[in-house]
Amino acid sequence: MLAAANRAIGRGAATRRRHVTRTVLTAANGTTGAGLLLALATRTRIRRGRNGVLIAEGWRLPMPPASCFTVGSVIITRRSAEWLLAEERAELLAHESRHAGQYAVLGPLFWPAYWVACGWSYLATGSYGVHNYFERRAGLKAGGYPEELPLRPWLRRIWSGGRTHSTSGT
Ligand SMILES: [Zn+2]
Repeated sequence: MLAAANRAIGRGAATRRRHVTRTVLTAANGTTGAGLLLALATRTRIRRGRNGVLIAEGWRLPMPPASCFTVGSVIITRRSAEWLLAEERAELLAHESRHAGQYAVLGPLFWPAYWVACGWSYLATGSYGVHNYFERRAGLKAGGYPEELPLRPWLRRIWSGGRTHSTSGT
């Protein structure tokens, strides 16, 4: 029982270390600075989040069409910090925090890589998220995306490589 407790404490310490690493890396690679500048420029209010992420609340611009998005270790939301920190939004907060982890690894390269991933997903399915590597890794369901969508017909045709013959007349 003591061993189990020690293991749990060990896990907690490892998780905390991961959060600190994420915070330090996103600060060092400039992406958190970019998030803070964006928050200041758009007059969203910066609040303390959880596990080293900050929350900028009250985003008003029409884009992006989501309730929140992340820049470095700053989660920017149309709603309030309390809304995002509420127990029932734990999954969404975890999803956005995983994006902060992706910024920690990629730095500013996150942006072009993310947009390529969005473009590919949109071409393939008509959704920016379903086949987007970053959204899949962050958790589609937690991010409010459908978990699967059929590939567009042209892509299905390429995929099947002409092996299957259409049975429809057109
Ligand atoms: Zn996401």
